[in-house]
Amino acid sequence: FSSAPHRLGFGSANPTGKIPLGLKRKGLRIVVTGGAGFVGSHLVDRLIARGDSVIVVDNFFTGRKENVMQHFGNPNFELIRHDVVEPLLLEVDQIYHLACPASPTNVVGTLNMLGLAKRVGARFLLTSTSEVYGDPLQHPQKETYWGNVNPIGVRSCYDEGKRTAETLTMDYHRGAGVEVRIARIFNTYGPRMCIDDGRVVSNFVAQALRKEPLTVYGDGKQTRSFQYVSDLVEGLMRLMEGEHIGPFNLGNPGEFTMLELAEVVQETIDPDAKIEFRPNTEDDPHKRKPDIARAKELLGWEPKVALRKGLPLMVSDFRQRIFGDHKEGSN
Ligand code: NAD
Ligand code: UDP
Ligand code: UDP
Repeated sequence: FSSAPHRLGFGSANPTGKIPLGLKRKGLRIVVTGGAGFVGSHLVDRLIARGDSVIVVDNFFTGRKENVMQHFGNPNFELIRHDVVEPLLLEVDQIYHLACPASPTNVVGTLNMLGLAKRVGARFLLTSTSEVYGDPLQHPQKETYWGNVNPIGVRSCYDEGKRTAETLTMDYHRGAGVEVRIARIFNTYGPRMCIDDGRVVSNFVAQALRKEPLTVYGDGKQTRSFQYVSDLVEGLMRLMEGEHIGPFNLGNPGEFTMLELAEVVQETIDPDAKIEFRPNTEDDPHKRKPDIARAKELLGWEPKVALRKGLPLMVSDFRQRIFGDHKEGSN
């Protein structure tokens, strides 16, 4: 096994490891860490459909084999069970780094994937988050805003982990010349979303389907901006292929209070669904809405699927996973 960068025939006409823009892009070797997860699996579908070779690296912490099963048997698809906290040797052109539990291990995993990108000259894309803005004092949030994160708060492990991941990404760019891209993803929903991980959209949809009350935390006046997953995947691919590092906000600027979201869920699934108020979690951001001017201008990207159009698209998937296999409540 040679430690020299070697691309197994894909993109090997390009010894610098840089991927020239505007060239035909078929036949790249691409790693998607966290590719068996919600966003990752939709990204993998697009990349495979485009004709690329995709290696999914996932430890199935929150991801599921079912999300990528449609590609089993395809020679362009490979699934590796691996925890990115451990080093990994692969030969690839691009790395979409999505693997991330809500804990500090995302820092070690990011370091390893940056080390991999440096060794083989691959382009590296970090999926960061709008949580880097914390409880924002600027509204809507622009990429130039440095954020308002409580470093010792109950949510800070995830937020600070992603902030550190952004720092590492820029350090590897400046220090080692790694080609990097940073996406700051705002709340995203769609089919294959984890059913029971406590996110508001999955909670409300599952609750409405199960004829349980929709649990609104706090007074329900806090806002979020919800993006449909296909819009996000399009943005991630444009970012990877484009020439700009970012960071770029990728989100839908349509802003909703949690009570408004509950109404949309009622309209979509069950007009009789009840609402139940619960105490909110500490340090919950009051407002969140992306300013996407930068992505519009430099990536030519903007979301196309409004909440009322996107929500129905995840309902049949949820219905099937909740009721379809006689395993209600177990996910
Ligand atoms: P997800 O939990 O569905 O996907 C994450 C995947 O990473 C899962 O398949 C999980 O098994 C895998 N994973 C976790 N730890 C791992 C490890 N140590 N080694 C290997 N694999 C590991 O979550 P998602 O919503 O698809 O999120 C994807 C990325 O986008 C994450 O980095 C997340 O922080 C970011 N993001 C998502 C949202 C959103 O609203 N969905 C918002 C902001 C940022
Ligand atoms: N790494 C990896 N795969 C590779 C190259 C590196 O997982 O192909 C890991 C490596 O084990 C280390 C991290 O990435 O933990 C950072 O690597 P780098 O070479 O930047 O740092 P160094 O090993 O010199 O400290
Ligand atoms: N939330 C809610 N009911 C739920 C789950 C969440 O009202 O069942 C609220 C939560 O307090 C927060 C918002 O919905 O204000 C978004 O929460 P989520 O965890 O989905 O996303 P994040 O806070 O990470 O943006």
